[in-house]
Amino acid sequence: MHREPLIMVCTCEIAGRVRGKGFPARELPQRLVKGVGWVPTNTMISAFGTIPATPFGTGGDLILVPDPTTEVKVDFEDGSAGEHFFLGDLRHLNGQPWECCPRDLLRRALAALHDAARVTLVSAFEHEFVYTGVEDQPGSPYSLDAMRRQGVFAEALVAALRAAGTEPDSFMAEFGAQQFEVTNEAAGGMRSADRAVVVREMVRATAHRLGQRAIFAPILDPEGVGNGVHIHFSFRDAEGGPALYDPSGPFGLSVIGRQFAAGILHHMPALCAITAPSVVSYIRLRPNRWAPTHATLQQQDRGAALRVCPVLALPGLDPTRQFNLEYRVADAAASPYLALGALVWAGVDGIRRKLDLPAEGPPLPATLGAALDALEADTQARGWFGETYLGAYLQHKRGELAEMAGLDEAAQCARYALTY
Ligand code: GLU
Ligand code: MG
Repeated sequence: MHREPLIMVCTCEIAGRVRGKGFPARELPQRLVKGVGWVPTNTMISAFGTIPATPFGTGGDLILVPDPTTEVKVDFEDGSAGEHFFLGDLRHLNGQPWECCPRDLLRRALAALHDAARVTLVSAFEHEFVYTGVEDQPGSPYSLDAMRRQGVFAEALVAALRAAGTEPDSFMAEFGAQQFEVTNEAAGGMRSADRAVVVREMVRATAHRLGQRAIFAPILDPEGVGNGVHIHFSFRDAEGGPALYDPSGPFGLSVIGRQFAAGILHHMPALCAITAPSVVSYIRLRPNRWAPTHATLQQQDRGAALRVCPVLALPGLDPTRQFNLEYRVADAAASPYLALGALVWAGVDGIRRKLDLPAEGPPLPATLGAALDALEADTQARGWFGETYLGAYLQHKRGELAEMAGLDEAAQCARYALTY
């Protein structure tokens, strides 16, 4: 069959789905300049592919412009069409950023962090998911047998992740039924969120080539364990040196590290609406799931919302370079740009206002509705997003709530499992 290669340019908006448009690969030079056409209401497409409500109507035109540094070109060498795509920015027709561009929200947050503390962010997203190509068997967590039974998926995945430039770090059979986890090396600023988008897509792409699915929905069974996305982060100063660690500070945190963490804890109810943005995210955030239930910072505790990760005290390993915090209240229903962007904005507020770590760790919101109300009531968050974007976000997510109303938890989980 005669074939002509295509390239996609994609974005990852409020629903956390990766959407975009394709063009013939030979037109790349022009497309790097003019992008592809996009419309404002696309950001209102829900997780389920519906548009329950939109402030933008049918009007308006935008361009989705590929960022040349994000190119992914992976050939699975099985005769299938290769994965070839870019991630891009949503802009007005004059090239100015659109106020609801998810990458621009993160870009502004990273610039605000630099302004507030002269540091850059280094981060890594850790992903859990369910792979349908393996039977669940009792006793499987972390087992060599579960690794064997998943067949060639893991090796094909690591090859794809390597080819996509995401620097794979580990792969394991996780605790849940058919659940696996993949981690990658940390990356700076925007690149880390781009990498999270690419990792999810490479996991899905690999499963697809094997006739299977990888499911990142926050939880598949109301009685089971969830699929978390854990965001590890630290700071680098102007010389590239570590700036989160101070062994003499509480929890080993530098002054700006402590203030940043305090900002995250302070804004936690609002952050939940962005980082745990589905109805079933709140089934995951219940006791006995190794997922957080309270807005706490704790040393080496996987029940915490913010975990102070361990450092290895071994010869040749520099503790200051290993030290990082892990944000555990995220899942893959969230766009990595919005999750990381909101996290950074909350931390920047802590630095600007020199906040102290709170004495108490209040419970996290118990429902998406409560989290959205907290987001709406958070006056700072209004500034992170801007009025238009915050309004669109709340409307989008309240539409999703309405779509799930009346379904029991098992039915809700089943709907989300089809999407993510
Ligand atoms: N599956 C847990 C979650 O939903 C995390 C387990 C772990 O500590 O890796 O966040
Ligand atoms: Mg895990």
